[in-house]
Amino acid sequence: MGSSTTQVMQHVVCIPYPAQGHISPMLKLAKLLHNKGIHITFVNTEFNHRRLIKSRGSDSVKGLPDFQFHTIPDGLPPTDVDSTQDIPSLCFSTKKNCGVPFSNLLTKLNETAGVPRVSCVISDGCMSFTLAVAKEFGLPEYLFWTTSACGFMGYLHYRHLLDKGLIPLKDESCLTNGYLETVVDWIPGFNNIRLMDFPAFLRTTDPNDKMVDYILGETENATKGSGIILNTFDELEKDVVDAMRSGNLSLPPIYTLGALHLLTNQIQQTDEIKSIGSNLWKEEPECLEWLDTKEPNSVVYVNFGSITVMTTQQMVEFAWGLANSKQTFLWVIRPDLVKGDSAMLPIEFVEETKERGLFPSWCPQEEVLNHPAIGGFLTHSGWNSTLESICGGVPMICWPFFAEQQTNCKYTCVDWGIGLEIDNNVKRDEVEELVRKLMEGEEGKVMKNKAMEWKRKSEEAVAPDGSSSANLNKMIDEILHAKT
Ligand code: UDP
Repeated sequence: MGSSTTQVMQHVVCIPYPAQGHISPMLKLAKLLHNKGIHITFVNTEFNHRRLIKSRGSDSVKGLPDFQFHTIPDGLPPTDVDSTQDIPSLCFSTKKNCGVPFSNLLTKLNETAGVPRVSCVISDGCMSFTLAVAKEFGLPEYLFWTTSACGFMGYLHYRHLLDKGLIPLKDESCLTNGYLETVVDWIPGFNNIRLMDFPAFLRTTDPNDKMVDYILGETENATKGSGIILNTFDELEKDVVDAMRSGNLSLPPIYTLGALHLLTNQIQQTDEIKSIGSNLWKEEPECLEWLDTKEPNSVVYVNFGSITVMTTQQMVEFAWGLANSKQTFLWVIRPDLVKGDSAMLPIEFVEETKERGLFPSWCPQEEVLNHPAIGGFLTHSGWNSTLESICGGVPMICWPFFAEQQTNCKYTCVDWGIGLEIDNNVKRDEVEELVRKLMEGEEGKVMKNKAMEWKRKSEEAVAPDGSSSANLNKMIDEILHAKT
């Protein structure tokens, strides 16, 4: 039960931003805290709660006496669809509408017999409306930015880019005339970063862009919590994390706890705790059996996460690029992967690749990336996917879609040396070439070795004397001794 001597049970309320890539790492953190004897309340939106029940059954959110689920409305119009909500709408709506229900929930929790009084809030960094509520209740609050450190650093500098007149873009031509290649060389911790490597919301010509405004607000609030949690490890993003800790950005203590999935895998979990899951789509675990039949490092894993959408034409280019590479592949195709349409692969492609392709609609990705058959990952460079790939020792082909995926891609390809980038305007010949390079070429071998080195370093970070374990213990100690 940790090193605490406190008598009263601590009660942490965890509130993720309501999207897949945020709920999963927050749930892992919640399990780690619960493992140390802390009472957990996990707050989902009503929309996602319904989806979790649909994809995983009601057991997944039934909870335990000391690990409870509660819901609040997200403020968006009700819908029954099973796809990711529009991200900007969700950002604006949660910010505007969720404060009052969250405050009411804390009141209710404090009045519930048998439940310890709430002692701490851990909120997603993009749900910083919670800060005012925590303050009202006199509670410490930690902000969990589920981005990479480099992505977060990019967001933190939007204000400076504005002040220097680098954004908004003067006009649309800046998107194509090389302007985005401008190197920004005055940010400590960043090395050779170009405007195009910053989180992509800055690619706007609108001086009143609502998403940029939202980011300015959330990053300003990042200075106001008791600490910032990041799902990364020090060695991986050393320069950036050191710069964040230098004091120049007025940030509170930074707790790098990555990779959270490795830390969670180390703890003893009862069946009830194991059954608590976070996947909003129904997993198709059969693909693991299919992988069992494949040679080591022989399969390309293709998955664009939970938000990315593409045009039919882009999907067709990926399909024929994969077919022409002659490699075996596991391509996860979400039903809502194609914009405004249901995802339909060309029949000739399915026919041609039926002996060497599998197309589930959602998979247990962490396990897939740890399967010895996987040799490479064609990814959208979402942070969870990138980190899971690093921890699995799997090199990547990156097709960043939005947000800080552009920054993750730059770090993957340039700083960590474990990735190749595909042009946004994807063409089948390039897909074929890069897949062959990754799976068969010399460059691929070098990247694989490098990826295995990062895997070892990720394991060191979560070893009992590793940096992430030490940071977790320190943070838990603070939570256990918090006076409210
Ligand atoms: N994921 C999964 N199965 C899938 C696709 C995704 O379990 O078929 C998980 C993946 O392991 C990761 C998360 O969903 O933890 C996606 O988060 P990420 O940050 O990579 O991308 P986002 O979905 O936010 O764009």
